[in-house]
Amino acid sequence: MPTEPTYLIVGASLAGAKAAETLRSEGFGGRVILLGSETERPYERPPLSKGYLLGKEEKSVIYVHEEGWYAEHDVDLRLGVTVTSVDPAGRTVTTGDGESTGYDRLLLATGASPRRLTIPGADREGVLYLRTVGDSERLAAAFRGGGRVVTVGAGWIGLETTAAAREAGCEVTVIEPEPTALYRALGSELGEMFADLHREHGVQFRFGESVSEIRGPAGRAGEVITSSGAAVPADIVVVGVGAVPNTSLAAEAGLEVANGVVADAALRTSGEGIYAAGDVASSYHPLLGRRVRVEHWANALNSGPAAARSMLGQDVTYDPVPYFFSDQYDLGMETAGLPEPGTYDEVLYRGDRPGREFIAFWLRDGAVVAGMNVNVWDVSDDIQALIRSGKKVDPARLTDPDIPVAEV
Ligand SMILES: Cc1cc2nc3c(=O)[nH]c(=O)nc-3n(C[C@H](O)[C@H](O)[C@H](O)COP(=O)(O)OP(=O)(O)OC[C@H]3O[C@@H](n4cnc5c(N)ncnc54)[C@H](O)[C@@H]3O)c2cc1C
Repeated sequence: MPTEPTYLIVGASLAGAKAAETLRSEGFGGRVILLGSETERPYERPPLSKGYLLGKEEKSVIYVHEEGWYAEHDVDLRLGVTVTSVDPAGRTVTTGDGESTGYDRLLLATGASPRRLTIPGADREGVLYLRTVGDSERLAAAFRGGGRVVTVGAGWIGLETTAAAREAGCEVTVIEPEPTALYRALGSELGEMFADLHREHGVQFRFGESVSEIRGPAGRAGEVITSSGAAVPADIVVVGVGAVPNTSLAAEAGLEVANGVVADAALRTSGEGIYAAGDVASSYHPLLGRRVRVEHWANALNSGPAAARSMLGQDVTYDPVPYFFSDQYDLGMETAGLPEPGTYDEVLYRGDRPGREFIAFWLRDGAVVAGMNVNVWDVSDDIQALIRSGKKVDPARLTDPDIPVAEV
């Protein structure tokens, strides 16, 4: 008698948990095993730098599913378990305790980890990172003391953490080698808008400088030395210098890896029966015409289910317009598309820029390739549709706030 197939998922976070959910909702009757290194059941990370860090949201809001959901849906969730190797030929994985588990199909949803500083003093007490719920709780406790914080990196994590530190009453200096905040994510004009927002809240910036050393008494952080030789006092150093995809399992298993686990538009990797989703996947995106690795919540939310359907043999093309959101102080924004420098030739605006209630559109050859709505709501779906259409737009209509985005 044939045994039931086993679909095994490595990485028990948003992408992995959503994949497990989809396997069941699509009627898969075999075994579903979800293995994760962390000891918390799958949770979402955005609150860790926002409401949960600020103490405004309860821990209960972070979880992907209720505690009993996994047992109720016959998902074998094993926490505190790290997969140490994958054997694609034998179709088994080995975990840290030496146990081997066989699979018929495997999903790699191993996510990403914070890039670490390697400068002298980087291992001092008080140098903190933000990825896990434990990291968020450590930062919240550190900020409660109201000390002097240096944030290394003016990216999304650095800026959101800076806002939380300011709201907790800390003094904050942000050190960033680029000319302004979010420079590589949004370009200079919009990056400067975010820098101004933080300046208005009392944040100091040191742009064009990097950190070269962290010094302090008794193994603790006390000051950050910058590339210009300045010494910036710091009781807490928050490092937000990007994330690196957790690809070592895939690489050691001989799968193709290039800034992420390489996958096709159906999220199939180069390994037979092995799929990838979430932050770790670098998949071919037919709409963008290139491979992309998207480190955003919506991508984990949607690519896990897409990979699950692909594992079930359904015809899948995963090509949503990338979507991202952020909240800092009283500014909320959503971005559709990837407005990376070099991918557009013009930025147009509609609405009130000084009042920070507007939409920015990035265009290439007259067509919208990305859009960001700032304190303007219920338009992201229409912006995404505009990007997907690829059509050339009339700039006068695009920038006219009286014309709905859907009718541009
Ligand atoms: C603080 C923070 C705030 C964020 N805010 C936003 C936001 O506002 N908007 C937005 O769009 N995105 C945001 N993001 C990004 C978003 O959270 C990520 O894109 C999302 O978490 C990716 O989910 P994932 O399941 O792919 O990977 P991850 O969440 O990284 O999870 C991967 C899991 O796999 C486990 N794992 C790794 N290797 C192994 C192994 N060998 N064996 C077993 N388990 C393993 C890890 O321990 C981890 O639990 C934020 C991220 C962070 C850290």
